[in-house]
Amino acid sequence: MVPGTLNEPERRPEVDVVFDAVVVGAGFAGLYMLHRLRGLGFTARV
Ligand SMILES: Cc1cc2nc3c(=O)[nH]c(=O)nc-3n(C[C@H](O)[C@H](O)[C@H](O)COP(=O)(O)OP(=O)(O)OC[C@H]3O[C@@H](n4cnc5c(N)ncnc54)[C@H](O)[C@@H]3O)c2cc1C
Repeated sequence: MVPGTLNEPERRPEVDVVFDAVVVGAGFAGLYMLHRLRGLGFTARV
């Protein structure tokens, strides 16, 4: 477990995984962009 994420399981690194889009910045705009991209069927990470 990583400090600060005590209630979450440790997430494995996504090595060699391909996404249609990667959004830099998890603010309002970034999270809305993730929502829209996924709604359009794209794979994406923020
Ligand atoms: C004190 C305060 C109170 C506010 N109250 C309100 C309110 O009540 N109502 C309202 O409508 N608006 C409010 N706002 C304004 C609102 O927060 C902003 O308009 C809004 O967050 C802008 O969204 P954004 O996605 O453009 O940027 P942000 O929400 O700032 O998101 C940008 C993100 O990008 C990340 N980032 C930056 N550089 C990098 C990098 N190089 N790599 C990775 N990540 C990066 C930042 O960490 C952040 O998470 C308030 C703002 C402040 C400061």
